[in-house]
Amino acid sequence: MDRIWLQDMTWQEAEEAVSRSRGIILLPVGSVEQHGLHLPLGTDTYLAIGLAEDAAERTGVPVAPPIWYGWSPHHMAYPGSTTIRPEVLIELVYDVISSLSRHGFKSFIIINGHRIANIPWLQVAAERAQRRLGVRVYLFDPAYMSREVVEELGFGPVGHADEIETSHMLYRFPEFVDLEGARDYVPEAKPLYIVDPRGVGDTLCYVPSTVEDVARLREVSGGAVGRPTASDGEAGRRYHEHLVQRLVEVIKRVMEA
Ligand SMILES: [Zn+2]
Repeated sequence: MDRIWLQDMTWQEAEEAVSRSRGIILLPVGSVEQHGLHLPLGTDTYLAIGLAEDAAERTGVPVAPPIWYGWSPHHMAYPGSTTIRPEVLIELVYDVISSLSRHGFKSFIIINGHRIANIPWLQVAAERAQRRLGVRVYLFDPAYMSREVVEELGFGPVGHADEIETSHMLYRFPEFVDLEGARDYVPEAKPLYIVDPRGVGDTLCYVPSTVEDVARLREVSGGAVGRPTASDGEAGRRYHEHLVQRLVEVIKRVMEA
């Protein structure tokens, strides 16, 4: 079995990986931020890693070392949460793509575990890389790639450390989940403000909550938004499997392009 993680390869193996994968590489990106009392700080990155790893095993496409940090200014009232400035994230992703493009990688599939908060910066990095480096960049976000299956599974709306993330973690990284710590908090819907990618209707665009608003959840739910107590490992398995299949589909399309 060929190694899938770039950091585990020798440079010769990396060279072989370029031709084996026809120049495609996966890049998991996440965040280090509070995920309630039941999930670890690295949840978003772990989930991106899990998807990348399983799709890589099925396709032989390598995975670049994960970018653990994301843009998390709204979670800074919770110890361990670490935010990097958007310009740092843009430059970091750009430099990684730029380096790997010199060795023949030409198609980059970014797997974003941090949902809407990372997306604008990844879009800027992707556009810049395509324009300056002549590569192709694809942005794979679980929240947008699961709209149908999430409906079928009956998951509630996208929140934070919610039943979607918790079910996914229960399936893929159960050793990091402490369901006894899970506390639900379902906020009242705000008029004309829908953040969930499944939502329909007129809406203002996403702006992160203030650090004070998120801090108030410490006493309410430990920082979670949604219904993590309704999480279920079997639903998490179906959700994960759906996403891995979609990711494999994307990889195959890029290979054939
Ligand atoms: Zn998360």
